[in-house]
Amino acid sequence: MNEGYTKFAVHLTQGDLPACPALTRLNEVRTVLHDLELIGVLPGGIGYGNVSVRLDGTSKFIISGTATGAKRVLAPTDYCVVDSFDAARNEVFCTGRIQASSESMSHGSVYQANPAINCVIHIHSAVMFRFMQANGYLKTSEKALYGTPEIAAETARLVRDTGTVQGIFVTAGHEDGVIAYGADIDSVEQLLLEANRQSMGCEL
Ligand SMILES: [Zn+2]
Repeated sequence: MNEGYTKFAVHLTQGDLPACPALTRLNEVRTVLHDLELIGVLPGGIGYGNVSVRLDGTSKFIISGTATGAKRVLAPTDYCVVDSFDAARNEVFCTGRIQASSESMSHGSVYQANPAINCVIHIHSAVMFRFMQANGYLKTSEKALYGTPEIAAETARLVRDTGTVQGIFVTAGHEDGVIAYGADIDSVEQLLLEANRQSMGCEL
């Protein structure tokens, strides 16, 4: 199968997570989003959505692992640390008990684009996806598909161009995908909940 890009490769080093006080809060927010079905599992059994937080003052981040969408509440072992990644080569190096998904490169690209960003959350919602595109929200190119170097590059471009520490945008080439980021976990949660409320027609 050659779709014109390098196949995603993930290298997992078995190990425990470093101390990360923010993980408790991140996991709480993930459960809130799971209850809203913004993170979850499709009828075919494919999980969607992932949450991450930067390890204080480093380029590393902790992210929910691949294929965890079915679980309402994650354990620490359902998360891993992304130590480094190479978006152009479609390659991720992580430590933990579970692998990072190919979407972790889009998270990494956001962190790389602005060192003041400390939290990134990717959710899926057909309603939000339609609403945000109809209302002029920022979006990555329709040609940038799921888990590719292109979507990571597009994500980095968008965050850099915006120049703000906080934002929310649609991944137009990755159906139903929305990414939000900010300086802390609470602000990202608020961005997502607000966009979700508005898209459901319950504007305050
Ligand atoms: Zn996705």
